Amino acid sequence: MQIVTRYRALFQILLLVAVSTPLASQVTAIRAGRLIDPETGTVSTNQIILVEDGKFAAIGQGLTIPRGAEVIDLSDLTVLPGLVDAHNHLALTYKQVPENNVYYLTYVMESTPLRAIQAVSNGIQMLTSGFTIVRDMGNNANYADAALRIAIEQGWIPGPTIINSGLIIGGMGGQFWPTPEMALDKGIVYPEYLDADTPDEIIKAVRQNALFGARVIKICVDCKPWGYSTEEIRLFISEAAKIGMKVEGHVQTVEGARRAIDAGIWSIAHDRGLTDEMHKLMAEKGIWRAGTETPISLTGHTTPERYAATVSRLRNAWENKVPLTFSTDADYYVPGKHRGEVAIEFIETWKAAGIPNADILRAMTINGFRVSETMASRGPIKPGLIADLIAVRGNPLEQIDALRDVRFVMKDGMVFKRDGVMTPERFFHGGPVNGWNIR
Ligand SMILES: [Zn+2]
Repeated sequence: MQIVTRYRALFQILLLVAVSTPLASQVTAIRAGRLIDPETGTVSTNQIILVEDGKFAAIGQGLTIPRGAEVIDLSDLTVLPGLVDAHNHLALTYKQVPENNVYYLTYVMESTPLRAIQAVSNGIQMLTSGFTIVRDMGNNANYADAALRIAIEQGWIPGPTIINSGLIIGGMGGQFWPTPEMALDKGIVYPEYLDADTPDEIIKAVRQNALFGARVIKICVDCKPWGYSTEEIRLFISEAAKIGMKVEGHVQTVEGARRAIDAGIWSIAHDRGLTDEMHKLMAEKGIWRAGTETPISLTGHTTPERYAATVSRLRNAWENKVPLTFSTDADYYVPGKHRGEVAIEFIETWKAAGIPNADILRAMTINGFRVSETMASRGPIKPGLIADLIAVRGNPLEQIDALRDVRFVMKDGMVFKRDGVMTPERFFHGGPVNGWNIR
């Protein structure tokens, strides 16, 4: 009798294990009314997307939904990969009050801890607008961008996947023109910029950023008349390559663009130096363009003349088949808008340039994954990749403004937003659930 009881207990345990196993790897099944593949610009209808252990397991029409799976019905919506902003500054928000939109004052008036907390909020605001990847390109106080990335990766808070640059490396002064006493006595350029004026300093600066958690290197190619030569840019590229990182150049002159292109830089930020000739060279070399095309609708952040030039340069880049990314340089507060709404506003410039919707969407997704180098891990909706996706009403291939109202967001296989409302509880943890040693 005793033996039977013992076997029965064992049987019950086995049964419990068998029943609870599917729960250990919970399957989510998403019914997608329409599913966009931005790579081809095509739509398939009535797809089922299976997500297991945070990754896409299978995608297709008429797939069997496993018993016990959580079913999410997006059959009225269009599902597509998450969006990428290839140039943002999440830990910088300058404002009309108190700093009159001068970020030099933000840097003086707001501490790194405060800016890090702002970055958490800005990241959440980007995610709710559908941006699942953000390249965070410097001016982020004392490595607040690295802290943000690590906090998201460890599992403390929700946020986009962050590809961060750490400090912007520049020749003496960075983008500042400080007074001698503030620069020399107070070291005011650091940490907003990291001065590197000689080959030794260049190597050390790249290593410092790598040590403190950067994922890409950002340099000031021509912020100052002394700028960086082609040889110096090559040194940045080779040193960064040792750590598996690419180099983005802030470029504001044609000659700066020429040197960056000659050196074979990975990506160029801003469009001011990008002439037809530079675009042709960029297309030939496959250099990414992060043009940061501020729309005229963000009043006070561009002028009609600058905007007209920006639109025509973007058009010219597209005609020359330059690899285009969607990039905003969003780093300011626009009353009435959150950071994600500021970022999505930039589609206005792309519309004004007459870029076809399929190409705008490609810049916002596939090209964003490529410039972020995440194609092997996340981005496309493909089996084996981490499950990030969004859903909108309508069809962005027909009406790109459909992206302004993101109804659903999944990040890392977890629902972040549903029916247009953020539901982030599964992203908050009282400890580093994904491991403390993510640096
Ligand atoms: Zn910027």
